[in-house]
Amino acid sequence: MKDCAFDLHIHSALSPCAEDSSTPDVMAGLFALSGFDVIALTDHNSCGNCAAFLRACEHYGILGIPGMELNTSEEVHVVCLFPELAAAEDFSEYVYSKLPDIKNRSRIFGNQIYCSESGQPLREEEKLLISATEIGIYEVSDLVEERCGIAYPAHIDRQANSLLYNLGFWDGGMGFEIAEISMRCPDDFADSRPDIEGLPLIRGSDAHRMEQIPEKPLQHLPVEELSAQAVIDALRHLKKT
Ligand SMILES: [Zn+2]
Ligand SMILES: [Zn+2]
Repeated sequence: MKDCAFDLHIHSALSPCAEDSSTPDVMAGLFALSGFDVIALTDHNSCGNCAAFLRACEHYGILGIPGMELNTSEEVHVVCLFPELAAAEDFSEYVYSKLPDIKNRSRIFGNQIYCSESGQPLREEEKLLISATEIGIYEVSDLVEERCGIAYPAHIDRQANSLLYNLGFWDGGMGFEIAEISMRCPDDFADSRPDIEGLPLIRGSDAHRMEQIPEKPLQHLPVEELSAQAVIDALRHLKKT
């Protein structure tokens, strides 16, 4: 067993709300410098920068996991992680087909830039990626598990785009076994929510720009080996507290 320092919620320049300078290689390099062993790229509704991100992580000697922050039809954000790039890209293609055909207005929302592994801009995505998809919250777990991944609701303590605030309750029928809380969430957050009693909670930085990268890792996960599959397995087996 190895204890790995992780952050599984990171954005790159493909997310309109991220800085253009948050290229996958810059984010990977800075997380490596901060001492992280495992990081996941989770742009809004797309895995389009994951290939570049994984190669950059390899270059910096840390493990990269391909992922996405899906926006469901209820406007709930869900982190989706995959053991393989091909599975992530297949899911990304499916999600793209469920995104409304609304053009990005970059002056309002920001640019959506596909990058090379060395951070060069390749092209811009024209469809707005932050829209709600046609995928419902009850569909997500199955869609991700079909591709051998894991899905869990993002930043459930926040008031925007969170499962607890948008829906008002936690329902085990949604199929999520863990949840993410934000970096600023108080440790006793779950005490006031009997519906999530015992639910394993992990923190994600949700870093959109360099200065949001934690100076040092706050949490560790015991894994059998340093692979995306082993990290996903370890998340599945997090003990209820
Ligand atoms: Zn979010
Ligand atoms: Zn996010």
